[in-house]
Amino acid sequence: MALFVFESIAQYHKELNNGSTTCLSVVEFYLQQIEQQKHLNAYVEVFAEEARAKATQLDLQLEQQRNLKKESSDKTSGPELLPLFGVVVGIKDVLCYEGHTVSAASRMLNNFKAPYSATSIQRLLDAGAIIIGRLNCDEFAMGSSNENSAYGPTLNALDNSRVPGGSSGGSAVAVQAGLCMVSLGSDTGGSVRQPADFTGVIGLKPSYGRVSRYGLIAYASSFDQVGIFARNIPDAALLLEVIAGQDAFDSTCSSLPVPAYSKELFQPDAALFSRMEAPAMESVQHSKTYKFAYFRDAVEHPSLDPEIKTALLAKFDELKAAGHQVTALEFPLLEYIVPTYYILTTAEASSNLSRFDGVRYGHRSAEPVEDLADFYAHNRSEGFGKEVKRRILLGSFVLSAGYYDAYFTKAQQVRRRLFDQTQLIFKDFDAILAPTAPTPAFKFGEKSDDPIAMYLGDIYTVFANLTGLPAIALPIFWHSNGMPFSLQVMTNRFEELSLLRVSASLV
Ligand code: GLN
Repeated sequence: MALFVFESIAQYHKELNNGSTTCLSVVEFYLQQIEQQKHLNAYVEVFAEEARAKATQLDLQLEQQRNLKKESSDKTSGPELLPLFGVVVGIKDVLCYEGHTVSAASRMLNNFKAPYSATSIQRLLDAGAIIIGRLNCDEFAMGSSNENSAYGPTLNALDNSRVPGGSSGGSAVAVQAGLCMVSLGSDTGGSVRQPADFTGVIGLKPSYGRVSRYGLIAYASSFDQVGIFARNIPDAALLLEVIAGQDAFDSTCSSLPVPAYSKELFQPDAALFSRMEAPAMESVQHSKTYKFAYFRDAVEHPSLDPEIKTALLAKFDELKAAGHQVTALEFPLLEYIVPTYYILTTAEASSNLSRFDGVRYGHRSAEPVEDLADFYAHNRSEGFGKEVKRRILLGSFVLSAGYYDAYFTKAQQVRRRLFDQTQLIFKDFDAILAPTAPTPAFKFGEKSDDPIAMYLGDIYTVFANLTGLPAIALPIFWHSNGMPFSLQVMTNRFEELSLLRVSASLV
């Protein structure tokens, strides 16, 4: 079989148009790669026959379009393709795809078939994408290492003794190892950015409300967002353009218009210019300088690997030398963000996961039971894994009558203050720069017995989810241990276009 080298969606479309490749041969290529890299355990199910059928149908369609074009007098270029025509996509096992199993990597949903498609999935399909399979993750998207999956862990393709990150570990590795072109994951507290960081691919979490959550199995509803893994910024921009936007099925999804991210990516930054005086505007138009902020406490934090710190500070110096402003801000709330995140998300999770009782949804125990409470207890004890149980217990605790005000209410107050502070920051700055994770990918087992150590690793990612900001992990660094790590960039809510533009200038 001819070797296929995936560079970008635009390049692939060029090759389809000039007839040097076909959707079917590309699908066969990916199926072969998936088979060869089976040990990575990235896919929990491959939709091989279906992907082949869709590819064949797309190839036929393209052939017909080409013939029509030949007959007409229009000889300009190839036929217009749908935005994701023939694009081979993998999806995290928390996104519903009608008629296909979706299990949230849990025994609880073993063999559960999605009765409808998530809005993001439907939009992929409508844009011509080929969904090649569902990808491994931590159970119910709870975790940072992919060690909490009922299917076993996904391995980091760069070093099989290291975790790929989580919870969207399978989605990250599928793009890392060339097992699809782009993939979807979900990010509640870093589950797209942190595995992207650990595997060396781009991970984009849109603003809360930018992409519909309809059909995304809920972990913590006021945090959850569908996210994107890609190998380059234009592909991430295109995917976002396709899946973002208003949805009648999700009232938390914004009705703000969706910019044509992929086209506007390389045009001047209007949002940035509007904040500037006329003379400053001129200088920016020529040099495209940005006002970056970073939190001193984040870079000085004792948990941050010294090499990551050095690399970030060197990057900041490089940006300053190129004419950008890079300003250190004090951020005394840093120590509160992980506890705030874990109080609020476990509270929401304990409520969201109550539907998995073996009656409405989920595993039903075969054991004899005494009464209804016993029946639920059996179903839930057998269906859920250890980490999910821990979070349900934590969440029930912080919501219980005696502790509600001390924990849940307090955490909500902190969340509000964080949001207010961010709004102040964005009055003066275009973007916030930060590490993505305190260390590069760690070894399997290193943190699995210490949930607190695992939770503390989320220190740099949960901020964007608590405040609803869009954030991206840009894999631009290498550690001396051979693993990649990334620069995290955040812009104000719904300023994905600026985020993508800044990112394009940084990679
Ligand atoms: N690691 C975080 C957690 O375990 C993030 C999970 C996520 O974003 N889904 O909650």
